[in-house]
Amino acid sequence: MDLYPLRWPFFDAHHRALAEDLRAWAARELGGLAEREELDPDGVARELVRRLGEAGWLRYCVPAAYGGVHARVDVRSLCLAREILAYHSGLADFAFAMQGLGSLPIALFGSEELRARYLPAVARGERIAAFALSEPQAGSDVAAIQTAARRVQDGYELVGTKTWISNAGLAHQYVVFARTGPGKEDLTAFVVDAHAQGLRVSSRIRTLSPHPLGTLTLDGCRVPATHRLGEEGEGYAVAMRTLDTFRATVGAAAVGFARRALDEAVRHSRQRVAFGQALSDFQLARWKLAWMATEVEASELLVYRAAWAHDCDAGRGPQDSSMAKLYATEAAQRVVDEAVQLHGAWGVVAGSTAERLYRDVRALRIYEGTSEIQALVVGRQVVRESARQEVAR
Ligand SMILES: Cc1cc2nc3c(=O)[nH]c(=O)nc-3n(C[C@H](O)[C@H](O)[C@H](O)COP(=O)(O)OP(=O)(O)OC[C@H]3O[C@@H](n4cnc5c(N)ncnc54)[C@H](O)[C@@H]3O)c2cc1C
Repeated sequence: MDLYPLRWPFFDAHHRALAEDLRAWAARELGGLAEREELDPDGVARELVRRLGEAGWLRYCVPAAYGGVHARVDVRSLCLAREILAYHSGLADFAFAMQGLGSLPIALFGSEELRARYLPAVARGERIAAFALSEPQAGSDVAAIQTAARRVQDGYELVGTKTWISNAGLAHQYVVFARTGPGKEDLTAFVVDAHAQGLRVSSRIRTLSPHPLGTLTLDGCRVPATHRLGEEGEGYAVAMRTLDTFRATVGAAAVGFARRALDEAVRHSRQRVAFGQALSDFQLARWKLAWMATEVEASELLVYRAAWAHDCDAGRGPQDSSMAKLYATEAAQRVVDEAVQLHGAWGVVAGSTAERLYRDVRALRIYEGTSEIQALVVGRQVVRESARQEVAR
Protein backbone atom coordinates (compact mmCIF):
# COMPACT_ATOMS: atom_id res chain seq x y z
CA MET A 1 0.00 0.00 0.00
CA ASP A 2 1.14 3.51 -0.81
CA LEU A 3 1.60 5.60 2.36
CA TYR A 4 0.05 8.74 0.88
CA PRO A 5 -3.63 7.72 1.35
CA LEU A 6 -2.95 7.28 5.07
CA ARG A 7 -2.75 11.08 5.29
CA TRP A 8 -6.36 11.39 4.11
CA PRO A 9 -8.92 12.56 6.68
CA PHE A 10 -10.78 9.23 6.65
CA PHE A 11 -8.22 7.73 9.04
CA ASP A 12 -7.32 7.98 12.72
CA ALA A 13 -3.88 7.37 14.24
CA HIS A 14 -4.72 3.72 15.00
CA HIS A 15 -5.48 3.09 11.31
CA ARG A 16 -2.07 4.42 10.33
CA ALA A 17 -0.41 2.22 12.97
CA LEU A 18 -2.29 -0.86 11.71
CA ALA A 19 -1.30 -0.15 8.10
CA GLU A 20 2.37 0.31 8.93
CA ASP A 21 2.59 -2.79 11.14
CA LEU A 22 0.69 -5.01 8.70
CA ARG A 23 2.72 -3.76 5.73
CA ALA A 24 5.92 -4.79 7.52
CA TRP A 25 4.46 -8.17 8.56
CA ALA A 26 3.11 -8.96 5.08
CA ALA A 27 6.37 -8.03 3.35
CA ARG A 28 8.25 -10.31 5.75
CA GLU A 29 5.83 -13.24 5.95
CA LEU A 30 4.00 -13.55 2.64
CA GLY A 31 6.81 -13.67 0.09
CA GLY A 32 7.19 -16.81 -2.01
CA LEU A 33 3.64 -18.10 -1.37
CA ALA A 34 2.45 -17.94 -4.98
CA GLU A 35 3.78 -21.31 -6.14
CA ARG A 36 2.54 -23.17 -3.07
CA GLU A 37 -0.88 -21.49 -3.40
CA GLU A 38 -1.33 -23.07 -6.82
CA LEU A 39 -0.25 -26.55 -5.70
CA ASP A 40 -2.07 -26.75 -2.38
CA PRO A 41 -4.64 -23.96 -1.94
CA ASP A 42 -6.41 -25.74 0.95
CA GLY A 43 -3.19 -26.35 2.88
CA VAL A 44 -1.94 -22.80 2.34
CA ALA A 45 -5.34 -21.30 3.24
CA ARG A 46 -5.43 -23.27 6.52
CA GLU A 47 -1.86 -22.21 7.29
CA LEU A 48 -2.65 -18.57 6.52
CA VAL A 49 -5.67 -18.53 8.85
CA ARG A 50 -3.48 -19.94 11.62
CA ARG A 51 -0.66 -17.45 10.99
CA LEU A 52 -2.99 -14.45 10.64
CA GLY A 53 -4.61 -15.52 13.90
CA GLU A 54 -1.32 -15.99 15.75
CA ALA A 55 -0.11 -12.57 14.60
CA GLY A 56 -3.32 -10.96 15.88
CA TRP A 57 -4.64 -9.67 12.54
CA LEU A 58 -7.89 -11.65 12.70
CA ARG A 59 -8.80 -9.69 15.82
CA TYR A 60 -9.97 -6.98 13.40
CA CYS A 61 -12.71 -9.36 12.20
CA VAL A 62 -14.63 -9.59 15.50
CA PRO A 63 -15.87 -7.11 18.16
CA ALA A 64 -13.67 -6.31 21.19
CA ALA A 65 -15.98 -8.11 23.63
CA TYR A 66 -15.08 -11.41 21.91
CA GLY A 67 -11.35 -11.02 21.43
CA GLY A 68 -11.39 -8.31 18.77
CA VAL A 69 -9.84 -4.86 18.57
CA HIS A 70 -12.73 -2.40 18.14
CA ALA A 71 -16.05 -2.26 19.99
CA ARG A 72 -17.76 -2.92 16.66
CA VAL A 73 -16.03 -4.25 13.56
CA ASP A 74 -14.27 -1.28 11.93
CA VAL A 75 -14.63 -1.26 8.14
CA ARG A 76 -11.64 1.04 7.58
CA SER A 77 -9.43 -1.48 9.37
CA LEU A 78 -10.88 -4.33 7.30
CA CYS A 79 -10.24 -2.35 4.10
CA LEU A 80 -6.66 -1.48 5.03
CA ALA A 81 -5.96 -5.10 5.91
CA ARG A 82 -7.49 -6.42 2.67
CA GLU A 83 -5.65 -3.91 0.50
CA ILE A 84 -2.30 -4.75 2.09
CA LEU A 85 -2.82 -8.53 2.10
CA ALA A 86 -4.10 -8.58 -1.51
CA TYR A 87 -1.00 -6.63 -2.58
CA HIS A 88 1.09 -9.61 -1.45
CA SER A 89 -1.16 -12.67 -1.77
CA GLY A 90 -4.68 -13.30 -3.05
CA LEU A 91 -5.05 -16.26 -0.72
CA ALA A 92 -3.97 -14.27 2.36
CA ASP A 93 -6.65 -11.70 1.52
CA PHE A 94 -9.16 -14.54 1.05
CA ALA A 95 -8.24 -16.19 4.39
CA PHE A 96 -8.63 -12.89 6.23
CA ALA A 97 -11.86 -11.81 4.51
CA MET A 98 -13.66 -15.10 5.08
CA GLN A 99 -12.99 -15.02 8.83
CA GLY A 100 -14.87 -11.72 8.83
CA LEU A 101 -17.67 -12.54 6.38
CA GLY A 102 -18.32 -15.90 8.03
CA SER A 103 -18.40 -14.53 11.58
CA LEU A 104 -20.06 -11.11 11.28
CA PRO A 105 -23.62 -12.62 11.17
CA ILE A 106 -22.84 -14.26 14.54
CA ALA A 107 -21.48 -10.97 15.95
CA LEU A 108 -24.51 -9.00 14.71
CA PHE A 109 -27.36 -11.45 15.36
CA GLY A 110 -26.06 -14.38 17.47
CA SER A 111 -27.00 -15.07 21.08
CA GLU A 112 -24.45 -14.37 23.79
CA GLU A 113 -23.72 -18.10 23.95
CA LEU A 114 -23.06 -18.39 20.19
CA ARG A 115 -20.83 -15.32 20.16
CA ALA A 116 -18.77 -16.57 23.10
CA ARG A 117 -18.45 -20.02 21.54
CA TYR A 118 -17.40 -19.03 18.02
CA LEU A 119 -15.97 -15.52 17.81
CA PRO A 120 -12.85 -15.74 20.04
CA ALA A 121 -11.78 -18.93 18.25
CA VAL A 122 -12.30 -17.25 14.84
CA ALA A 123 -10.16 -14.30 16.01
CA ARG A 124 -7.38 -16.65 17.12
CA GLY A 125 -7.46 -18.49 13.78
CA GLU A 126 -8.46 -21.73 15.52
CA ARG A 127 -11.84 -22.06 13.79
CA ILE A 128 -12.38 -21.36 10.08
CA ALA A 129 -15.59 -19.52 9.17
CA ALA A 130 -17.83 -19.67 6.08
CA PHE A 131 -20.93 -17.93 4.71
CA ALA A 132 -23.39 -20.12 2.77
CA LEU A 133 -25.97 -18.02 0.92
CA SER A 134 -25.74 -18.89 -2.80
CA GLU A 135 -27.52 -21.82 -4.40
CA PRO A 136 -27.57 -23.29 -7.91
CA GLN A 137 -30.76 -21.29 -8.70
CA ALA A 138 -30.16 -18.35 -6.35
CA GLY A 139 -27.11 -16.14 -6.82
CA SER A 140 -27.91 -12.49 -7.47
CA ASP A 141 -31.55 -13.28 -6.74
CA VAL A 142 -31.24 -14.10 -3.03
CA ALA A 143 -35.03 -14.28 -2.64
CA ALA A 144 -35.01 -17.40 -4.90
CA ILE A 145 -33.34 -19.50 -2.15
CA GLN A 146 -34.89 -22.96 -1.97
CA THR A 147 -33.02 -24.56 0.93
CA ALA A 148 -35.74 -25.15 3.50
CA ALA A 149 -35.60 -25.19 7.29
CA ARG A 150 -38.43 -27.17 8.86
CA ARG A 151 -39.17 -26.99 12.58
CA VAL A 152 -38.64 -30.28 14.44
CA GLN A 153 -38.38 -31.06 18.13
CA ASP A 154 -35.63 -28.90 19.71
CA GLY A 155 -34.63 -27.26 16.46
CA TYR A 156 -34.73 -27.36 12.68
CA GLU A 157 -34.07 -29.76 9.85
CA LEU A 158 -32.36 -28.25 6.79
CA VAL A 159 -32.74 -29.63 3.27
CA GLY A 160 -31.12 -28.12 0.18
CA THR A 161 -27.93 -27.29 -1.70
CA LYS A 162 -25.50 -24.41 -1.23
CA THR A 163 -22.92 -23.76 -3.92
CA TRP A 164 -19.91 -21.52 -4.61
CA ILE A 165 -19.19 -21.64 -0.88
CA SER A 166 -15.75 -20.35 0.03
CA ASN A 167 -13.95 -22.54 2.58
CA ALA A 168 -16.28 -25.51 1.84
CA GLY A 169 -14.40 -28.47 3.27
CA LEU A 170 -12.08 -26.31 5.39
CA ALA A 171 -14.60 -24.49 7.57
CA HIS A 172 -15.38 -25.53 11.14
CA GLN A 173 -18.83 -23.89 10.86
CA TYR A 174 -21.06 -22.39 8.17
CA VAL A 175 -23.61 -19.59 8.45
CA VAL A 176 -26.43 -21.11 6.37
CA PHE A 177 -29.45 -19.21 5.04
CA ALA A 178 -32.67 -21.19 4.60
CA ARG A 179 -36.31 -20.59 3.81
CA THR A 180 -38.74 -20.70 6.77
CA GLY A 181 -41.83 -19.28 5.06
CA PRO A 182 -43.48 -18.78 1.66
CA GLY A 183 -42.72 -15.04 1.34
CA LYS A 184 -39.85 -13.97 -0.94
CA GLU A 185 -37.76 -12.78 1.98
CA ASP A 186 -38.87 -15.36 4.58
CA LEU A 187 -35.32 -16.50 5.25
CA THR A 188 -33.62 -17.50 8.49
CA ALA A 189 -29.91 -17.82 9.26
CA PHE A 190 -28.29 -20.61 11.28
CA VAL A 191 -24.80 -21.53 12.45
CA VAL A 192 -24.19 -25.11 11.34
CA ASP A 193 -21.15 -27.00 12.60
CA ALA A 194 -19.16 -28.71 9.86
CA HIS A 195 -19.59 -32.10 11.53
CA ALA A 196 -23.39 -31.72 11.90
CA GLN A 197 -25.26 -34.84 10.86
CA GLY A 198 -26.70 -34.46 7.34
CA LEU A 199 -24.19 -31.85 6.15
CA ARG A 200 -21.58 -32.85 3.60
CA VAL A 201 -19.32 -31.20 1.06
CA SER A 202 -20.70 -32.86 -2.07
CA SER A 203 -18.15 -31.41 -4.51
CA ARG A 204 -15.19 -29.09 -4.73
CA ILE A 205 -14.94 -26.45 -7.46
CA ARG A 206 -11.69 -25.34 -9.13
CA THR A 207 -11.51 -21.69 -10.15
CA LEU A 208 -9.23 -19.46 -12.22
CA SER A 209 -7.05 -18.60 -9.22
CA PRO A 210 -6.46 -20.62 -6.03
CA HIS A 211 -9.60 -20.31 -3.90
CA PRO A 212 -11.03 -23.13 -1.72
CA LEU A 213 -14.61 -23.43 -3.00
CA GLY A 214 -17.29 -26.09 -3.00
CA THR A 215 -20.89 -27.23 -2.83
CA LEU A 216 -22.67 -28.26 0.38
CA THR A 217 -25.52 -30.73 0.53
CA LEU A 218 -27.90 -30.44 3.47
CA ASP A 219 -29.82 -33.67 3.68
CA GLY A 220 -32.05 -33.51 6.73
CA CYS A 221 -29.32 -31.64 8.59
CA ARG A 222 -30.30 -31.17 12.25
CA VAL A 223 -29.61 -27.75 13.78
CA PRO A 224 -30.48 -26.88 17.40
CA ALA A 225 -32.91 -23.95 17.81
CA THR A 226 -30.19 -22.19 19.83
CA HIS A 227 -28.10 -21.98 16.61
CA ARG A 228 -30.58 -19.64 14.91
CA LEU A 229 -29.23 -16.14 14.25
CA GLY A 230 -31.85 -13.54 15.15
CA GLU A 231 -35.54 -14.26 14.75
CA GLU A 232 -37.24 -16.54 12.28
CA GLY A 233 -37.66 -14.53 9.05
CA GLU A 234 -34.76 -12.21 9.85
CA GLY A 235 -32.28 -14.02 7.58
CA TYR A 236 -32.59 -11.59 4.69
CA ALA A 237 -31.57 -8.74 7.01
CA VAL A 238 -28.69 -10.86 8.39
CA ALA A 239 -27.39 -11.42 4.84
CA MET A 240 -27.82 -7.82 3.68
CA ARG A 241 -26.24 -6.21 6.77
CA THR A 242 -23.27 -8.55 6.49
CA LEU A 243 -22.80 -7.98 2.76
CA ASP A 244 -23.22 -4.22 3.16
CA THR A 245 -20.36 -4.20 5.71
CA PHE A 246 -18.06 -6.24 3.48
CA ARG A 247 -18.86 -4.73 0.05
CA ALA A 248 -16.36 -1.86 0.35
CA THR A 249 -13.73 -4.34 1.55
CA VAL A 250 -13.97 -6.23 -1.76
CA GLY A 251 -13.15 -2.88 -3.41
CA ALA A 252 -10.16 -2.61 -1.07
CA ALA A 253 -8.86 -6.02 -2.16
CA ALA A 254 -9.25 -4.85 -5.77
CA VAL A 255 -7.15 -1.78 -4.92
CA GLY A 256 -4.45 -4.07 -3.47
CA PHE A 257 -4.28 -6.13 -6.68
CA ALA A 258 -4.36 -3.01 -8.87
CA ARG A 259 -1.66 -1.19 -6.93
CA ARG A 260 0.61 -4.23 -7.12
CA ALA A 261 -0.02 -4.39 -10.89
CA LEU A 262 0.81 -0.68 -11.22
CA ASP A 263 4.04 -1.05 -9.21
CA GLU A 264 5.12 -4.05 -11.28
CA ALA A 265 4.28 -2.25 -14.54
CA VAL A 266 6.21 0.90 -13.57
CA ARG A 267 9.24 -1.16 -12.52
CA HIS A 268 9.18 -3.22 -15.72
CA SER A 269 8.69 -0.26 -18.05
CA ARG A 270 11.61 1.60 -16.44
CA GLN A 271 13.90 -1.38 -16.98
CA ARG A 272 12.74 -2.56 -20.41
CA VAL A 273 14.58 -0.95 -23.30
CA ALA A 274 12.88 -0.74 -26.71
CA PHE A 275 13.96 1.31 -29.73
CA GLY A 276 16.98 2.49 -27.75
CA GLN A 277 15.19 3.93 -24.71
CA ALA A 278 13.33 2.85 -21.60
CA LEU A 279 9.72 1.90 -22.28
CA SER A 280 8.68 4.34 -19.55
CA ASP A 281 10.11 7.24 -21.61
CA PHE A 282 7.55 6.73 -24.40
CA GLN A 283 4.54 9.02 -24.12
CA LEU A 284 2.15 6.17 -24.92
CA ALA A 285 3.52 4.10 -22.02
CA ARG A 286 3.24 7.11 -19.67
CA TRP A 287 -0.35 7.65 -20.78
CA LYS A 288 -1.11 4.08 -19.70
CA LEU A 289 0.73 4.47 -16.38
CA ALA A 290 -1.00 7.78 -15.72
CA TRP A 291 -4.45 6.24 -16.19
CA MET A 292 -3.53 3.22 -14.09
CA ALA A 293 -2.35 5.45 -11.21
CA THR A 294 -5.42 7.66 -11.51
CA GLU A 295 -7.82 4.71 -11.46
CA VAL A 296 -6.06 3.20 -8.42
CA GLU A 297 -6.34 6.45 -6.46
CA ALA A 298 -9.94 7.12 -7.55
CA SER A 299 -10.78 3.60 -6.33
CA GLU A 300 -9.03 4.21 -3.03
CA LEU A 301 -10.97 7.42 -2.50
CA LEU A 302 -14.31 5.70 -3.10
CA VAL A 303 -13.41 2.67 -0.98
CA TYR A 304 -12.15 4.61 2.03
CA ARG A 305 -14.98 7.14 1.81
CA ALA A 306 -17.48 4.26 1.93
CA ALA A 307 -15.61 2.64 4.84
CA TRP A 308 -15.46 5.93 6.76
CA ALA A 309 -19.17 6.58 6.08
CA HIS A 310 -20.04 3.11 7.37
CA ASP A 311 -17.94 3.43 10.53
CA CYS A 312 -19.16 6.96 11.31
CA ASP A 313 -22.81 6.38 10.33
CA ALA A 314 -22.37 9.24 7.87
CA GLY A 315 -23.30 7.48 4.65
CA ARG A 316 -26.24 7.29 2.27
CA GLY A 317 -26.90 3.58 2.88
CA PRO A 318 -25.76 0.87 0.46
CA GLN A 319 -25.08 3.37 -2.34
CA ASP A 320 -21.60 4.31 -1.06
CA SER A 321 -20.34 0.74 -0.65
CA SER A 322 -21.95 -0.44 -3.92
CA MET A 323 -20.35 2.45 -5.82
CA ALA A 324 -16.97 1.67 -4.23
CA LYS A 325 -17.15 -2.04 -5.09
CA LEU A 326 -18.42 -1.38 -8.61
CA TYR A 327 -15.77 1.16 -9.50
CA ALA A 328 -12.79 -0.40 -7.72
CA THR A 329 -13.30 -3.93 -9.07
CA GLU A 330 -13.96 -2.78 -12.65
CA ALA A 331 -11.00 -0.36 -12.54
CA ALA A 332 -8.70 -3.04 -11.08
CA GLN A 333 -9.51 -5.29 -14.02
CA ARG A 334 -8.49 -2.52 -16.45
CA VAL A 335 -5.32 -1.70 -14.48
CA VAL A 336 -4.20 -5.32 -14.29
CA ASP A 337 -4.91 -5.80 -18.00
CA GLU A 338 -2.73 -2.77 -18.87
CA ALA A 339 0.01 -4.13 -16.60
CA VAL A 340 -0.01 -7.40 -18.55
CA GLN A 341 0.15 -5.40 -21.80
CA LEU A 342 3.12 -3.35 -20.60
CA HIS A 343 4.97 -6.55 -19.69
CA GLY A 344 4.63 -7.86 -23.24
CA ALA A 345 5.07 -11.66 -23.46
CA TRP A 346 6.32 -11.75 -19.86
CA GLY A 347 2.83 -10.70 -18.80
CA VAL A 348 1.31 -14.01 -19.85
CA VAL A 349 3.99 -16.34 -18.49
CA ALA A 350 2.33 -18.75 -16.06
CA GLY A 351 3.35 -17.92 -12.51
CA SER A 352 4.57 -14.38 -13.25
CA THR A 353 3.13 -11.72 -10.93
CA ALA A 354 1.23 -9.94 -13.73
CA GLU A 355 -0.34 -13.22 -14.89
CA ARG A 356 -1.30 -14.19 -11.33
CA LEU A 357 -2.92 -10.80 -10.72
CA TYR A 358 -4.83 -11.13 -14.00
CA ARG A 359 -6.45 -14.31 -12.66
CA ASP A 360 -6.79 -13.14 -9.04
CA VAL A 361 -8.74 -9.99 -9.86
CA ARG A 362 -11.47 -11.52 -12.02
CA ALA A 363 -13.77 -13.06 -9.39
CA LEU A 364 -14.10 -9.78 -7.49
CA ARG A 365 -16.55 -8.46 -10.10
CA ILE A 366 -18.79 -11.47 -9.39
CA TYR A 367 -18.79 -12.40 -5.72
CA GLU A 368 -20.67 -10.54 -2.96
CA GLY A 369 -22.88 -8.97 -5.61
CA THR A 370 -21.92 -8.71 -9.28
CA SER A 371 -21.07 -5.38 -10.91
CA GLU A 372 -24.51 -5.35 -12.52
CA ILE A 373 -26.22 -5.74 -9.14
CA GLN A 374 -24.09 -2.91 -7.66
CA ALA A 375 -25.05 -0.76 -10.65
CA LEU A 376 -28.74 -1.52 -10.03
CA VAL A 377 -28.36 -0.37 -6.40
CA VAL A 378 -26.58 2.86 -7.37
CA GLY A 379 -28.89 3.56 -10.33
CA ARG A 380 -32.02 3.03 -8.23
CA GLN A 381 -30.72 5.43 -5.59
CA VAL A 382 -29.77 8.08 -8.16
CA VAL A 383 -33.27 8.02 -9.70
CA ARG A 384 -34.98 8.04 -6.27
CA GLU A 385 -32.91 10.99 -5.13
CA SER A 386 -33.82 12.96 -8.24
CA ALA A 387 -37.54 12.25 -7.65
CA ARG A 388 -37.19 13.25 -3.99
CA GLN A 389 -35.57 16.54 -4.91
CA GLU A 390 -38.31 17.24 -7.46
CA VAL A 391 -41.00 16.78 -4.78
CA ALA A 392 -39.05 18.98 -2.36
CA ARG A 393 -38.81 21.85 -4.89
C1 LIG B 1 -14.74 -17.03 -6.14
C2 LIG B 1 -16.15 -16.99 -5.64
C3 LIG B 1 -16.40 -17.13 -4.28
C4 LIG B 1 -17.71 -17.13 -3.79
N1 LIG B 1 -17.92 -17.33 -2.45
C5 LIG B 1 -19.20 -17.39 -1.99
C6 LIG B 1 -19.45 -17.67 -0.60
O1 LIG B 1 -18.54 -17.83 0.20
N2 LIG B 1 -20.74 -17.76 -0.19
C7 LIG B 1 -21.80 -17.58 -1.03
O2 LIG B 1 -22.93 -17.66 -0.58
N3 LIG B 1 -21.59 -17.32 -2.36
C8 LIG B 1 -20.32 -17.22 -2.86
N4 LIG B 1 -20.08 -16.98 -4.19
C9 LIG B 1 -21.23 -16.85 -5.09
C10 LIG B 1 -21.46 -15.41 -5.56
O3 LIG B 1 -21.92 -14.61 -4.52
C11 LIG B 1 -22.42 -15.48 -6.76
O4 LIG B 1 -21.70 -16.10 -7.81
C12 LIG B 1 -22.93 -14.12 -7.18
O5 LIG B 1 -23.84 -13.61 -6.24
C13 LIG B 1 -23.62 -14.16 -8.56
O6 LIG B 1 -24.55 -15.19 -8.61
P1 LIG B 1 -24.54 -16.26 -9.80
O7 LIG B 1 -23.16 -16.76 -9.98
O8 LIG B 1 -25.63 -17.22 -9.55
O9 LIG B 1 -24.88 -15.41 -11.11
P2 LIG B 1 -26.32 -14.94 -11.61
O10 LIG B 1 -27.08 -14.33 -10.49
O11 LIG B 1 -26.96 -16.06 -12.35
O12 LIG B 1 -25.93 -13.81 -12.65
C14 LIG B 1 -25.41 -14.11 -13.95
C15 LIG B 1 -25.20 -12.77 -14.68
O13 LIG B 1 -26.47 -12.11 -14.80
C16 LIG B 1 -26.36 -10.79 -14.26
N5 LIG B 1 -27.64 -10.42 -13.65
C17 LIG B 1 -28.33 -11.06 -12.67
N6 LIG B 1 -29.43 -10.37 -12.36
C18 LIG B 1 -29.44 -9.27 -13.15
C19 LIG B 1 -30.32 -8.16 -13.29
N7 LIG B 1 -31.41 -8.03 -12.52
N8 LIG B 1 -30.01 -7.20 -14.20
C20 LIG B 1 -28.90 -7.30 -14.97
N9 LIG B 1 -28.03 -8.34 -14.89
C21 LIG B 1 -28.29 -9.29 -13.96
C22 LIG B 1 -25.27 -10.89 -13.22
O14 LIG B 1 -24.72 -9.62 -12.93
C23 LIG B 1 -24.27 -11.81 -13.92
O15 LIG B 1 -23.50 -11.08 -14.81
C24 LIG B 1 -18.78 -16.96 -4.70
C25 LIG B 1 -18.53 -16.79 -6.06
C26 LIG B 1 -17.23 -16.81 -6.53
C27 LIG B 1 -16.99 -16.63 -8.00
